[in-house]
Amino acid sequence: MSIGENYLEIVERKNRAAVRSGRNPEDVLLLAVTKLHTVEELDQAISAGATDVGENRVQELLEKYDRTAEPVRWHLIGHLQTNKVKNIIDKVVLIHSVDSLKLAKEISKRAIAADKVMDILIEINIGMEESKSGVPAEDVESLVKEIAAECEGVRIRGVMCVPPIGETSEDSRPYFKKTKAIFDNLKTLDLPQERFLPDTLSMGMSGDFEVAVEEGATIVRVGSSIFGKRNYR
Ligand SMILES: *Cc1c(COP(=O)(O)O)cnc(C)c1O
Repeated sequence: MSIGENYLEIVERKNRAAVRSGRNPEDVLLLAVTKLHTVEELDQAISAGATDVGENRVQELLEKYDRTAEPVRWHLIGHLQTNKVKNIIDKVVLIHSVDSLKLAKEISKRAIAADKVMDILIEINIGMEESKSGVPAEDVESLVKEIAAECEGVRIRGVMCVPPIGETSEDSRPYFKKTKAIFDNLKTLDLPQERFLPDTLSMGMSGDFEVAVEEGATIVRVGSSIFGKRNYR
């Protein structure tokens, strides 16, 4: 199948997962993840309807940004170093991977300088894996409060997670449930709307996005099921 056909099939599967869990398909965004794939490949997904694209590395995002056939909305989904924030602050619509006050402060500073407010998600290390970034579940609430208090240039929109690699999609379900519970608990916090508008739950990848939709994801991040296997350099 072509990339365009793959894209349409993933949209279909995402929509069916939403409907069978009593949700509106339009409330779940499919983010096309293009890491290690070319702009030409991305253009095929765009022709099929892709509007939002995720990259996990700043350098790759900058290489592809502005080279697509049609404009798209770029999301940063991977670990972000503070010294790279300035390079993407005017290019992305959402940073999914904020896991420290220090990073949030830098994003805030750069956003204010660029005369904008940057939407962010807090990345949760939901499986407590040493190899993964993200904050431990028990620290999410205090980090949200600190960011809301200290970072005028950012608005927290929700949380993101990457569960441990499992054997089947069902292995991810408990982690998605846990992430959703943290998200729902955050929604009860009384924080100013300019800083905190929790409506986004970013979870689910090629292997488990339908389970993520069933558990409440509002963004699923799908790469290899659309673009094929990645050739790691
Ligand atoms: C690569 C990546 C994805 C997409 O993974 P696939 O399994 O190829 O769908 C999603 N989220 C993050 C953070 C990634 O780095």
